[in-house]
Amino acid sequence: MKSVALFGGTFNPIHYGHLAIAEDVRSKHNLDKVIFIPTALPPHKDPADLVDAQKRSVMAFLATVSNPCFDVSTYEVEKGGKSYSIDTVRHFRHFFGDKVELYFIIGADMLVEIASWKSIGELLQLCRFIAVSRPGYDAPKILNRHFLTAEGAANEWLDRILVEDSILWDISATTIRRRVREWKSIKYLVPEAVEQFIHNQQLYL
Ligand code: ATP
Ligand code: MG
Repeated sequence: MKSVALFGGTFNPIHYGHLAIAEDVRSKHNLDKVIFIPTALPPHKDPADLVDAQKRSVMAFLATVSNPCFDVSTYEVEKGGKSYSIDTVRHFRHFFGDKVELYFIIGADMLVEIASWKSIGELLQLCRFIAVSRPGYDAPKILNRHFLTAEGAANEWLDRILVEDSILWDISATTIRRRVREWKSIKYLVPEAVEQFIHNQQLYL
């Protein structure tokens, strides 16, 4: 194992945007694995329409099982409570050792937030970030505007954040939840097994 990307998210639910950008990053950077890590309780989110962590994890398993380079870790879910990326990255750094190149995948929208993440300086030392483009978010502009001006931000931080020009996927879990609520089809927005799970479990209604 030489290089691994961690991909944290609420995955409420996981959708083809997540899968497509993960596969794109994996192939471009020749990664051995992408590990999807559903959060227990995201620190920055309103948990109102948050499906429980076990079900979000099941959907992540269903969506990734056909890709031998994709794994799901229930590390944060089993730990429970608020998840901070710094704890998770420390865990995986310890697990894989110093020789493995560690990346953390985020969408460009998260660039606005990571400047204020807990222990962001240490986080960037432990792993490189790969920020993937997302419709409506100009990654280089966000980096300049929100990151360079953040308290304690330094230029060496920027060297640890790669901006990835990927195919733009105009799809979000928010849209999927809304479509389910409005009885609209979510076919081809999520894998078929995830679609069936959502309907069988009557999620997001
Ligand atoms: P929600 O609408 O509930 O916030 P989401 O679609 O943003 O859901 P998350 O679970 O919040 O999904 O995202 C997990 C990670 O995947 C985040 O880093 C997010 O920026 C990224 N991501 C999600 N969808 C896309 C997309 N379509 N393009 C690029 N990045 C994405
Ligand atoms: Mg999101």
